Amino acid sequence: MEIKKILCPIDFSDISQSGFNYAVFMAHSHKAELTVLHVIDQLHGLGGYQVLALDLGEISQQMEKDASAKLSDLLSQVKENIKIEKAVRSGKASSQIIKMAKDIKADLIIMASHGRTGIPHVIMGSVAETVVRHAECPVLVVRDILR
Ligand code: ADP
Repeated sequence: MEIKKILCPIDFSDISQSGFNYAVFMAHSHKAELTVLHVIDQLHGLGGYQVLALDLGEISQQMEKDASAKLSDLLSQVKENIKIEKAVRSGKASSQIIKMAKDIKADLIIMASHGRTGIPHVIMGSVAETVVRHAECPVLVVRDILR
C-alpha cells in the first residue's frame, strides 16, 4: 500500500490550518501529491431572485474566485517541494469532500476538527465525523494541537 494522493479539505478556520500543516508534512514525507479543497455552501432557496442586484451566478462566481485566491495564499506559505493542486467545489461540505476523494482516488484524507462532544456536537453536527463515517479511504483527523 502506498500513500500517493492526499486530500486536505480547508474551511479557512484557524483549526483547518492545523490539518493543512499536517497534510503538508505527510505529503512531503510520503512524496505524495496533495489536493486542497474548499467547498462553498450552496445558496439555499434563493434561486430565481435578484440579491442586491447581483444574480446568483455572479455571487457563486465571486465566491469561487475569492476561495481560489485564499487557497493560493495558503499554498504560497508552503516551503516544502511538493506537488499541490487546489480545487473549489459547491455543495454540502461533507458530501463534496467524500466525492472529491473518490474522484481523485485519494489514498488518505487529512482534516482538522475541534472534536466537540456533547450538546454543541449534537446541534452543530460535524463535517469530520460524517467524512470519517462515509469516505471510501482512510481519514486522519487532527485535533487543534499542531499550530
Ligand atoms: P469543528 O469541530 O471544527 O466544527 P468539523 O467536524 O466541522 O470540526 O470539521 C472541520 C473540518 O471540516 C475543517 O477543518 C475542514 O477540514 C472541513 N471543512 C468544513 N467545512 C468545509 C468547507 N466548506 N470546505 C472544505 N472543508 C471544510
